[in-house]
Amino acid sequence: MLVDNHPPVHATMDQFAYSGGELTVGNVPLTQLAARVGQTPFYAYDRALLRGRVAQLRHVLPPAVKLHYALKANPLPALVGLMASLVDGMDVASSGELKVALDAGVNPAEVSFAGPGKRGTELRQAVASGVLINIESVREVPALERVSMELGLAARVAVRVNPDFELKGSGMKMGGGPKPFGVDVEQVPSLLASIGRAGLAFEGFHLFAGSQNLRAESICEAQQKSFALAERLSQDAPSAVRSVNLGGGFGIPYFPGEQRLDVVPIGQNLAQLADRARRAMPEAALVIELGRYLVGEAGVYVTRILDRKTSRDQTFLVCDGGLHHHLAASGNFGQILRKNYPVTIGNKALGGPTEIVSLAGPLCTPLDLLADRMTLPVAQEGDFAVVFQSGAYGASASPQNFLGHPACIEVLV
Ligand SMILES: *Cc1c(COP(=O)(O)O)cnc(C)c1O
Repeated sequence: MLVDNHPPVHATMDQFAYSGGELTVGNVPLTQLAARVGQTPFYAYDRALLRGRVAQLRHVLPPAVKLHYALKANPLPALVGLMASLVDGMDVASSGELKVALDAGVNPAEVSFAGPGKRGTELRQAVASGVLINIESVREVPALERVSMELGLAARVAVRVNPDFELKGSGMKMGGGPKPFGVDVEQVPSLLASIGRAGLAFEGFHLFAGSQNLRAESICEAQQKSFALAERLSQDAPSAVRSVNLGGGFGIPYFPGEQRLDVVPIGQNLAQLADRARRAMPEAALVIELGRYLVGEAGVYVTRILDRKTSRDQTFLVCDGGLHHHLAASGNFGQILRKNYPVTIGNKALGGPTEIVSLAGPLCTPLDLLADRMTLPVAQEGDFAVVFQSGAYGASASPQNFLGHPACIEVLV
């Protein structure tokens, strides 16, 4: 039981350094960075933190496992360009993301294209690009057969399997039970036969059980079950399995009480699976695809305090940024009970008096709250409120046009 006088706290946001009492991003203190950007609000992503996260993960992953970046988490072209130099491949889920990945110079052989409801034009673009298409519906087989004939290029395909298990304890479940994603495992053998008949270039399997998981043992269990399923399904494959994408689901701590994921046991688990793959599916590469875990902790959302006001006995700091740029921090992107992201006053982050305040955005809706009654350094108009853990599912996952405020800017520092 949690005792009242020891409420759960946020994980420490010690990935960012401080200089002269100010938070820095890419070694640039916040006030200088805001001047460089020319406006608030903005998102800033730290190159060194992105590099460091990939390096730290590579250190624990067996060399045989390919690390992919899932663009959905953050599709900013400059960031995707940096990630292209760090990872082995990318996962895209629309023709728009496909363009960003290809523009960034990713080798099409190492790009996979997932997503339900792929349009005819998207399938055609994917085949012409030479990327691996994760088939998510029986409908896609005849559609890809037509496109392949027309272009004279056999579509490279993998089957996204909707497994008969879930990733336990994940924030968003993407597999198991009835789902619009992938093909139910029961239907996969007949789908594999139709892929063979259609003459598509079969390459393997894709499983993605869920997202935002902070428990290593749950992730290991899902990877083992996913691997075993791929091994079983490989018996019915029209040709040798060359790729088994085990998904991701690695989470980052957002809310009080959450701790950073321990990736060491996941690396060990993957090393065992890579050994098994060498025996059971000797041509198969194991792939993991991560979005949030690679980029989420490397980004902040910076907004300026426009007004400090008291209503009854509550103090509100009204900011120039809010849910239209950062839906997730407002608690409206898949949360059931609203909880606070880690937040600070970026130019008063060390020492000094604190107070309990709420951070409101400028939108005329009670949903626009960046922090609800949080203990923060005492702040005034003109100070910077900073939302941590904002490198993933931020700008691109927010309704920027809602209420017609200025767009936000994103920078890589
Ligand atoms: C969203 C998504 C990802 C990335 O998920 P994260 O939780 O950000 O790591 C990876 N693969 C697929 C198929 C996805 O839909």
